[in-house]
Order: sequence, then C-alpha cells, then structure tokens
Amino acid sequence: MSQNRCPQCCSSVTDHQILCEHCYAGQGLDALAGMDPNLRSQRLARRLSLYLGSFGAHKFYLGEPARGTLYLLFCWTLVPTALALRDSLQLARMAPAQFYRRWCLKSA
Ligand SMILES: [Zn+2]
Repeated sequence: MSQNRCPQCCSSVTDHQILCEHCYAGQGLDALAGMDPNLRSQRLARRLSLYLGSFGAHKFYLGEPARGTLYLLFCWTLVPTALALRDSLQLARMAPAQFYRRWCLKSA
C-alpha cells in the first residue's frame, strides 16, 4: 500500500482511496476519467473567479449558468468584477469540506 499526495490539499492518501479524507477531492483514475462530473476543484474555481470572474467563468464552472450569464451580460459595468473578487475571497476562506458540501453535492 503506497502513499500518494492529494492534488487538491496535499494530504497523504492511499492507493485504495477514491476520495481524499480531508477535502473529498476525487483521486486516481476515477477522478481523471471524470466518473463523477459533480466533483469540482476548489482551487480551479478560485482561480477562475480571480482571473475570469468578471465574465462569470467560475459561476459556469460551479454549475450556476444563470448567474454566470448575468455576470457576462453586465461585465462592462464593474459590478461583476467586484462580485468576483468577493467570490474569490469566499472560495479562499471556505474549508474544503464546506466547498464539497456546497458545490459538489448539489445535484446529487
Ligand atoms: Zn485532499
């Protein structure tokens, strides 16, 4: 039984684990093959909100296309930019387990 590092939170996981115990990120081939489309990466969501948040990229990624469209329609005002910065801070402060419960169990 070998130890690996979780790509999301860097804690150690064994070969037999499908989900990380700490952040519930998918591990191994199941995660790579996209077996569960509801498993989303908190790090990717945070980066999308930071760099492309004005256009609502993180909202589309997190499964909220209606809000993403609103961000996209009003991107010429600076309101979505401010909201995206707020979303980015929220995603950075959110515990991985809380992120999993809020964004990965929604449609399950
Ligand atoms: Zn993890």
